[in-house]
Amino acid sequence: MPLGTDRSGRGLDRALVLMLLSTLVTAGCRLVPSADAPARDGWSESRVAERIGEVFPDRESREITVYRTRNYILFSSARGVEPIGRLFEDVHRRFADTFPVPVHGGDLLPVYLFATSDEYRRFYVRHTGVTAEIAGLSIGHAWQDYVATSIPLEQEAIVHHEGVHQLMLARAGYTGGGSWFHEGLAEYFERTVRPAGFEILVGAELRSAGFTLEEIIRQPQLLDPSWGHQSSTRAIRLYALAASFIEFLHRGPHARHFGEFLRVIGEGPPFDPGFVARQVRAIYGLSLADLDQQWRRYWLDGDRQPPVLTAPLPEWPSVDSD
Ligand SMILES: [Zn+2]
Repeated sequence: MPLGTDRSGRGLDRALVLMLLSTLVTAGCRLVPSADAPARDGWSESRVAERIGEVFPDRESREITVYRTRNYILFSSARGVEPIGRLFEDVHRRFADTFPVPVHGGDLLPVYLFATSDEYRRFYVRHTGVTAEIAGLSIGHAWQDYVATSIPLEQEAIVHHEGVHQLMLARAGYTGGGSWFHEGLAEYFERTVRPAGFEILVGAELRSAGFTLEEIIRQPQLLDPSWGHQSSTRAIRLYALAASFIEFLHRGPHARHFGEFLRVIGEGPPFDPGFVARQVRAIYGLSLADLDQQWRRYWLDGDRQPPVLTAPLPEWPSVDSD
């Protein structure tokens, strides 16, 4: 069981997991949005049966619950699927309220819920080719058009984080920008339901002689395994900084350009720091170094207006998982 039992250990493992997943998110297929239209079902009986066979090869199809919501189709070997469907719909609604990006129509988005973390990790390895070591740390990931997770602790945060990756890729068609862009967006959104510790971490990082904005944008992956045992703590810092930069762009003095920034970067190349710098100049009329100074001032000089936390989340059932 890789998740720690103490609070800090669990938080670290969870953050590490999300970082590991980021490598997959940006490597995912480009999904072409079909049109501006509400989600359509698009899941025939035979397509559903085929998907169950792919995702749950060790199960009888009668063991799998298939549950449709307005925008999602959930395939689950676990109990308690309805509240998770409601949570995904909640993320879908909040995403549209938060990010000024097009949410194109298309088929219901698939979500795979596994009864145990073992079953989830076997799928992760089999389907994506990650190592068993990476899968062993993972409790959820987004790739291609789907989100997969077992039913773990801190479900709200995982659904919010991975749900943003899924909607950015599969509904907005934004595959550009790189790791800092996608993880910044997902982490920023996630922090609206899990704000604890974020401001302290960001403040400490921005006061230190840590990463500059340019250095963050130049990271091919925020979690870089070549840093060995330092990879996870380094990535936790980078995730928080990327999220704080997204908040600055969303809520700071340049807020009116946020939608343009998301579109230009999201539709741009998957990883090209020079492109990002040129677009920053074009959109904001600033160098990266000047924008970096404004970002720090926004956080450290008291101009910041923290996001208003949205309504309480639905009641969570107790679920047997592991
Ligand atoms: Zn992520």
